[in-house]
Amino acid sequence: MAAAPGSESAPRPLPPIAGSESGDSAPTFHNVRVAVRGELFKLAGFALGGGLTGWLFGHALAGYAVALSLYLLWQLRYLRALRQWLEAPKQVELPEPEGIWGEIFEKLLDLQKRNRKRKKKLAAIVSEFQASTAALPDGAVVIGNNGEIQWFNKAAQALLGLRGQLDVGIRIPNLIRHPDFTDYFGDGEYLGEVEVPSPVNLNVRVALKIIPYGKEQRLMIVRDVSELRRLETARRDFVANASHELRTPLTVLRGYLDMIEPESRNDGPLAEWRMPIAEMRTQSARMESLINDMLKLARLESDADTKQDVLDVPVVLKRVLEDARNMSRGAHRLEVEVDTELFLYGRDAEVHSIFANLAFNAVRYTPEGGRVALRWYGDEEGAHFVVNDSGIGIAAEDIPRLTERFYRVDVGRSRANGGTGLGLSIVKHALHRHEGRLEISSELGVGSTFTCHFPPHRVHRAEIPPEQRALAG
Ligand code: ADP
Repeated sequence: MAAAPGSESAPRPLPPIAGSESGDSAPTFHNVRVAVRGELFKLAGFALGGGLTGWLFGHALAGYAVALSLYLLWQLRYLRALRQWLEAPKQVELPEPEGIWGEIFEKLLDLQKRNRKRKKKLAAIVSEFQASTAALPDGAVVIGNNGEIQWFNKAAQALLGLRGQLDVGIRIPNLIRHPDFTDYFGDGEYLGEVEVPSPVNLNVRVALKIIPYGKEQRLMIVRDVSELRRLETARRDFVANASHELRTPLTVLRGYLDMIEPESRNDGPLAEWRMPIAEMRTQSARMESLINDMLKLARLESDADTKQDVLDVPVVLKRVLEDARNMSRGAHRLEVEVDTELFLYGRDAEVHSIFANLAFNAVRYTPEGGRVALRWYGDEEGAHFVVNDSGIGIAAEDIPRLTERFYRVDVGRSRANGGTGLGLSIVKHALHRHEGRLEISSELGVGSTFTCHFPPHRVHRAEIPPEQRALAG
């Protein structure tokens, strides 16, 4: 398709579809009036002529009637011609009489000509649309109101293995039989997109997005995301391998630093190295936390194992609380409220990570004398873990970015507190694997509340004796 000269960047407007051709003249009422008047004259002439002729022969009325019948026959001739033309406009030619019939036929031929033009234009638009969508790198499938395929482009044909016209009319759930797609298609809401293997090539992954339009019509966009997934896997593997490889030399370094640390104390032979050795130990500890967090994240992303056990959450919380107490060293008021019968279908290490990261952050970002409250409770919407602190708070514009990797509001403060900038990313990923979601509300200088919501089907109510219910602390 050639672009209009000098307008390469501007989108080309679609040609008008109907009713705006230059030959579309305004109704010529004057012509109509003249033609009607002429016809009336003709009728009067017939009547008069017939009447007079009849009168000459002594039958004025009969002559009159014969003349009107002849006029009627004449009209019927044109009506017949019109009927035949309407039946087969391409084969039959309309006569070109003078007067009102001539006027009518002329208008009809004009209308026919304009309709043909319009049809041609529409056909051109349709084929232009089909040509442009056919050239799209993404697949496009038009789905009818019964879920049947109505049209698709070349990319969709290749990605979904459609067999040209043969597959027009088959229902899309019969073609893509993956359960994720069946659920996505079945619920009719079409939120986001769904990713499934291509029905013709299991090595190709396609992302499918359905967009409803018109009267129960749907457009399905099909994207090949195999390369994207391969790159993501490569990135994940690289981070996991690099972290793993860094761990061994770091362990050796830490071992030696621990060994020489006593020598650097006051009267030791390495006393003048006390400060550098202390700094090296702090930095290597920081590196170790970073590597551990990076490995944790990599595992969360790549671990496909979704096996879940019933998890005694109060026991997990007890461990977290102990660690938070050690971290706070009595500098904060720690409050805890736990529903001791509320268990979860989940993975111990991951749930522990979620709770520990949130509780430790609350301690880290709450100045001495502040309050940190942990709450674990259930209701009809599921189970909830709330960490509330009276700490430094977070500005509203930072909240949406907190779960990004290495995003820190104050890098210096985070480092000084032993943070890695990965804690909340771990929380987000681990929660996602438990079908949970994180809610954050905060006010600068007042404090923050982090809430984890778990869906009801993840909750397990345990019956345990009352004497075991108190959370020892
Ligand atoms: P970090 O290791 O730096 O704590 P996180 O991913 O756990 O990394 O948190 C990201 C950032 O969110 C932190 O650097 C901090 O700025 C902010 N943050 C997290 N929790 C709190 C909190 N309870 N109060 C104030 N700021 C917080």
